[in-house]
Amino acid sequence: MIQLEGITKSFGSLQVLKGIDLIINKGEVVSIVGPSGAGKTTLLQIMGTLDKPDSGRIVLNGTEVNRLKEKELSAFRNKEIGFVFQFHQLLPEFTALENVMIPALIQGISASEAKKNAREMLDFLGLAERASHKPAELSGGEKQRVAVARALINHPSVVLADEPSGSLDTQNKIELHRLFFDLRDKLGQTFVIVTHDEELAAQTDRTIHIVDGMIK
Ligand code: ATP
Repeated sequence: MIQLEGITKSFGSLQVLKGIDLIINKGEVVSIVGPSGAGKTTLLQIMGTLDKPDSGRIVLNGTEVNRLKEKELSAFRNKEIGFVFQFHQLLPEFTALENVMIPALIQGISASEAKKNAREMLDFLGLAERASHKPAELSGGEKQRVAVARALINHPSVVLADEPSGSLDTQNKIELHRLFFDLRDKLGQTFVIVTHDEELAAQTDRTIHIVDGMIK
């Protein structure tokens, strides 16, 4: 469960988030929509502990993350939260398999175990045949699915996705969306998806509208 209470954030004199209160339950697939500049990415980054609010409280699965020290926080983030970005951000010099292994290695899992888990995850996402390919040798949809596999390798309870289908064509977009719902049904994860895609937003369990730094 994700709980946000009274979250505010400013960049210089610009107040981007003006007091966000939000509860997202385990297993919900929630979309965040709103005009450009409304504060959606900022909210997602704060939810994912990649950025700190100026004030307010964040509780993820019972842990009050604001109270964690930097080292504990990065271990917590690596274990509990998976991130998917618009541009996959895979490392070009590594294969799909190696890219997926990275969060597991950071987590301290042995290389052989990380490799086994990464293979299973790629298999699960229909990418077994692509394991030894580098990102440049994969299609856009495949790259984004590898990024999803990487986000899921440590079995995070929460997956945060920022415009995950923004760079995909319609068919790949549909498949990626289907994948999120499949994963939720099979693995029970919570998905929070920032999107401009009204069609995706309409399919989610709940749509949160952010306008001018507030929930509408
Ligand atoms: P979009 O839909 O265009 O991606 P958004 O709703 O995700 O927009 P944010 O990226 O959260 O909006 O940005 C909200 C506002 O905060 C924007 O005016 C942006 O320029 C500003 N902003 C975001 N990050 C920073 C930063 N690190 N430093 C300064 N200003 C920032």
